[in-house]
Amino acid sequence: MNARPAENVATATVIGHFINGVDVADNNRPLPVTNPATGAVTKHVAMATKGTVADAIAAADAAFPAWRNTPPAKRAKVMFRFKQLLEEHADEIVAALTEEHGKVLDDAMGEFVRGVEVVDYACGVAELLKGEHSRNVGPGIDSWSEFQPLGVVAGITPFNFPAMVPMWMFPMAIACGNTFVLKPSEKDPSAPMLVAHLLKEAGLPDGVYNVVNGDKEAVDTLLEDPRVQAISFVGSTPIAEYIYATGTRNGKRVQALGGAKNHAVIMPDADIDNAVSALMGAAYGSCGERCMAISVAVCVGDETADEVVGKLKTELQDLKVGNGTDTCNDMGPLVTQAHHEKVRGYVDLGVNEGAELVIDGRGLVVNGHEDGFFLGACLFDKVTPDMRIYQEEIFGPVLCVVRAESQEQAMQLIDNHEYGNGTCIFTRDGEAARYFADNIQVGMVGINVPLPVPAALHSFGGWKRSLFGDLFAYGPDSVRFYTRRKTITQRWPSGGVREKAQFSFPTNR
Ligand code: NAD
Repeated sequence: MNARPAENVATATVIGHFINGVDVADNNRPLPVTNPATGAVTKHVAMATKGTVADAIAAADAAFPAWRNTPPAKRAKVMFRFKQLLEEHADEIVAALTEEHGKVLDDAMGEFVRGVEVVDYACGVAELLKGEHSRNVGPGIDSWSEFQPLGVVAGITPFNFPAMVPMWMFPMAIACGNTFVLKPSEKDPSAPMLVAHLLKEAGLPDGVYNVVNGDKEAVDTLLEDPRVQAISFVGSTPIAEYIYATGTRNGKRVQALGGAKNHAVIMPDADIDNAVSALMGAAYGSCGERCMAISVAVCVGDETADEVVGKLKTELQDLKVGNGTDTCNDMGPLVTQAHHEKVRGYVDLGVNEGAELVIDGRGLVVNGHEDGFFLGACLFDKVTPDMRIYQEEIFGPVLCVVRAESQEQAMQLIDNHEYGNGTCIFTRDGEAARYFADNIQVGMVGINVPLPVPAALHSFGGWKRSLFGDLFAYGPDSVRFYTRRKTITQRWPSGGVREKAQFSFPTNR
């Protein structure tokens, strides 16, 4: 299970950065990038110094005045062309996702397509930026609000959606007239670099979109530089909290999306077969490495729990785990050896805490891939809220079943949890579903929909410690996040008439 070097590691590629429209080679502190299905180091990625990040910010800053003044319709044309190029290069990008993240190809395509949907939305930016106008707010006085770009904005993204999460950010940021510096995850850096070249080919002026690979040093440089006006972050909650606190202290606008523990409530009247199918995909798809993964199934009533656990056990016998490039497989490996150890450690912990490990994936061996970071699906029953496996985000193929006596008790559990990203309810009762959606303290809710990830024309975000900031990602909130409102009030006095000074506050009295 040790990460082992590929035979040609001495000459393996070191991924650098993309600054001002060109690839920038760099060999600073290169970190290995592994293929998680084989454990082989396939390439390295450079860690940007403060100076390299400053170069990217300078390029974005220099590109801003011209890009800001480019008509939105022309900016949209670049997005249209970009979307076409993305679709032409889909297979190449998706292959890079599977090679570095490990998710199965079909799931990687799903992530890619959901990202492209945000580009679709950005193509309508001229309409989205139209602004608001009022004639005659006072005698002969008109007033309007317009939405002006901020300047240089930065995105910092996690490993689990290396194509989609950056696309939650930069298409709308750029379409709104900002320039952008992306700091992707160091674990799977190839997709954002491929995308940078497509943006250039689509006609995006140099400097408008830049990518710096790196770690805390790069992130801290973005947080401290006064030219960076706003930061979008997606990742774990401790880092989200740090980014929000540091960025806002430095006067920046920040949205920082964090971790999750998403509960599915299964009511006694639910269509149990369909609920179980939904749980299988939502808990074990992408090896559980999704911020919207269902990691807790709250079954209302012991009969419901017994039926759900029994059917999950049966379904799990058929779950195919292996290399994501093999289209027969349902689930690939975890992203890194370190993450594998962390998730496996949680399974050990659950056993020690007294939960019932109904399916134990720890012994899984994938023939021919003995060095890959594979963990079989795990299922715990009789998990209780005092256990750490219930409280903490595991981010792996581990589903915890909690038994509740009533819908109220199930909802109380969800409301008491520190995270509030996504949740769902399986029921045939419209009244119960409506009550759940109306009252639950969570940002995204599904009714018989296990992964209620909003479509691109809505916005994505959680509540409680799953989001620091006020605005969600993509959709209508992204127009607000990536622009600053300016309200202009105008009158044109009739020529030659001298008006007396007015000392009272202007009104329509
Ligand atoms: P992470 O927090 O470790 O890393 C996210 C980004 O922050 C990366 O670019 C990383 O290089 C950077 N980073 C890491 N440590 C840092 C530090 N000390 N200082 C500054 N920057 C640092 O997250 P991850 O492991 O890449 O991704 C998984 C996490 O992301 C999970 O918690 C998951 O729930 C969350 N996530 C949330 C959403 C959402 O929309 N809420 C979406 C996807 C993933």
